[in-house]
Amino acid sequence: MLALRPEATAGVVRAYLEHQMYTKKKITRLYYSGPMFRYDRPQKGRYRQFYQIGAEIFGGDSPYFDAELIIIIDRILRQFKVKQYIFEMNSVGCDGCKVRYSSKLQEYLNQRQDGLCQDCQVRIKNNVLRVLDCKVVSCKQILENVPAIQEILCSVCKKHQEMLYQPLERNKVQFMENKYLVRGLDYYTMTVFELKINGGESAVAGGGRYNNLVAELGGPSIPAVGFAIGMDRLCNLVTPEIKRNIDIFVFFLGQNAMQNGITIINEVRSSGIRLITDYTERNLKNHLKVANREGAEHVLILGEDELSKQVFLYKNMKKGYQKQVEFEHLSNFLKGLKNAEDTYMR
Ligand code: AMP
Repeated sequence: MLALRPEATAGVVRAYLEHQMYTKKKITRLYYSGPMFRYDRPQKGRYRQFYQIGAEIFGGDSPYFDAELIIIIDRILRQFKVKQYIFEMNSVGCDGCKVRYSSKLQEYLNQRQDGLCQDCQVRIKNNVLRVLDCKVVSCKQILENVPAIQEILCSVCKKHQEMLYQPLERNKVQFMENKYLVRGLDYYTMTVFELKINGGESAVAGGGRYNNLVAELGGPSIPAVGFAIGMDRLCNLVTPEIKRNIDIFVFFLGQNAMQNGITIINEVRSSGIRLITDYTERNLKNHLKVANREGAEHVLILGEDELSKQVFLYKNMKKGYQKQVEFEHLSNFLKGLKNAEDTYMR
């Protein structure tokens, strides 16, 4: 049978086993990125083809591995300047906890069966944990007072959860417990998490621990934990301003300035600063007219006078001031302009 892959974890586990990576290292860290396919009902942020970037750690059962992955996601979001997000966390326990919790849940739901949707009435028997993330209003109402799995977690699972929370708190990761979070896939054990924005319904990233999957797919018993970020949803959160580069225009007065200036410009560009050059011969007044027409805020001018003093004339067209900047300080000065703008935008 052929299928378009809905997610990558199972494929990564397959590759991990096929290449017997567990014989080479105790801890193996892998990442992937690429398109995934699901038969979802398309709407904003929900597509039939979407892109994920994810990471998996094999071979470690310490909760600090779970924490490390969550902190990586947190760092990515901070780098993209995404705000007001929170990790929703839960534990679905080990096999023993799952069995005990499932029967407790069944007991609770059996008494309230009539109010549940048709799907959940079947789920009670087949896969009762999935009732917890049902979105039907009547089911949600019944679930309001459902016993939380935290109440019955075994000591190992409880300790795992407590130890996971400590590094998250220390690293100022915003998180909260969500007793309804079970995530769609049955392979999770202990930690599950999802990243939500502003109390929104759909997640930007999700993941968890899956200590049985490697063995279930034919390998030795090796614990693992991983996450996937939805790139489409992440991109929807990144505001265009953050992607924007500031425009710095450079004009020259005369051939001599151009020839000397081109070397300095090249050095500045090598330090990662974007410059827009124009080698058209004009006088200063006309250069400034062009800069105005282009809506330029930052303008650098190099003429004979500046060249002899080894400086550029910097003009801020919006704020209406100018200053001389020595060649050797040009890169730092321009970086300062960019940082000031980034701070202002934040
Ligand atoms: P999952 O593999 O279901 O844990 O999904 C991980 C992340 O992939 C989610 O948090 C979303 O950001 C993204 N994702 C999942 N399904 C879709 C979809 N149909 N369209 C766009 N993004 C999705």
